[in-house]
Amino acid sequence: MDAHVVKKCINPSCGLTYEINNDIYRCSCGSLLDIKYSQRPPRELIEKFYQRRNHGGNIYNESGVWRFRDLINFAGIDTEDFDECARVLVSLDGSEGRLSKPYRMSKAADHAGMEHDSFLLQPEGYNPSGSFKDNGMSTAVTHAKMLGVRKIICASTGNTSASAAMYAANEDIDCDVYIPKGEIAPGKLGQAFQFGAQVIQIQGNFDDALSASLKNAKETGGYTVNSVNPFRLEGQKTIVYRVLEHLNWNPPDWIVYPGGALGNTSSCGKCLIELYEWGWIKKIPRMAIVNAEGANTFYELYNGLFENKKLTWNDGRPDLGMIERYYAHLDEKGIRPKTHATAIQIGRPANIVKALRALNFTNGVVVQVSDKEMADGMSIVGLNGFDCEMASGAVPAGVKKLRSDGIIKRDDVVVGILTGRQKDAGLAVEYHTNESNLYAKPPTNR
Ligand SMILES: [Zn+2]
Repeated sequence: MDAHVVKKCINPSCGLTYEINNDIYRCSCGSLLDIKYSQRPPRELIEKFYQRRNHGGNIYNESGVWRFRDLINFAGIDTEDFDECARVLVSLDGSEGRLSKPYRMSKAADHAGMEHDSFLLQPEGYNPSGSFKDNGMSTAVTHAKMLGVRKIICASTGNTSASAAMYAANEDIDCDVYIPKGEIAPGKLGQAFQFGAQVIQIQGNFDDALSASLKNAKETGGYTVNSVNPFRLEGQKTIVYRVLEHLNWNPPDWIVYPGGALGNTSSCGKCLIELYEWGWIKKIPRMAIVNAEGANTFYELYNGLFENKKLTWNDGRPDLGMIERYYAHLDEKGIRPKTHATAIQIGRPANIVKALRALNFTNGVVVQVSDKEMADGMSIVGLNGFDCEMASGAVPAGVKKLRSDGIIKRDDVVVGILTGRQKDAGLAVEYHTNESNLYAKPPTNR
């Protein structure tokens, strides 16, 4: 087989490539790296993906990630042979991505001002560890296994640590997780302990935890599984494949994500760029990213609210100095990211440059919503019988905002990604015991 896979610098004026038999995730020029495949997969694979849904007990066909293995084939495994897959591919018994697909949620559609039939939400909370992270963790840990590493490391607002710890436990390797002390949902912290991770609590926020974990990985030879790792983003592309498969590979008008570290934004962008280049899709959906008002770096920079200048991809030469000046401005003013949606409480999104590329390619938009709007969004998803966390509530909230701004049209086909399930039951209880909340149903006493 002459297929060749490399890591390639995302900066077009650099473009250095690296072999994949190492854990380098940043180019010598400072930019992040992409996984690049030399082969163009034939569109006929669509039929094969469909057939694999009849998995016959093969967990690599049952998995909503590895079912699409031909499109994320950095391990050189595109066979139907179970043993050959099992030698390399990491899966939690086929459960990652297995239950994920878009659903109609009529009450959420009414909330957002959308048609019932064209507004779809895809819950990623039914992944084994309860969030979209499992999509990317199965691929990152596969790469870790290819390198023979014995320890993976991450920083986390909670969901990453739960997912990393779960796969590490299943593969019998060590896992260190760096978390901002007191800033993550109790259910997520509990998962990290439960799966046997070494929890390292950092005084500070997620951004501080990420710096500490990257430093530790460098010093101890641990393998970083945060979304700066390009293999994470390969797995997360399958979120989009499942959306498209549900729509018979006719792209929607919009794909909507909450914005935190911007790994999903970057991954979706790379996915769409590839599918377009391969000739699999003709239409490019627009992306909408929803920031929390209390953690709105991307919103401010992208929309030109800092220095009166919009931060853009600029053909691969974004104004990096402006990002640094923005961070210095945050430090100077003592502005720390603050939102009850802790999953996206991130001030320094590590994937911001890849995210700019994604929005440039898709003519994307960035909006922000308040905690109250996210709580309403979370609650309306619940009233459709689906469970999601507050950060995911940003999706219906953001669509509602884009509708009222006239940017999304009522009959546009919109798919929103609900990134994780509720792991902080206190938030739902708090919401419903306060009768002033839009959808509150307070308890009665007798
Ligand atoms: Zn470079």
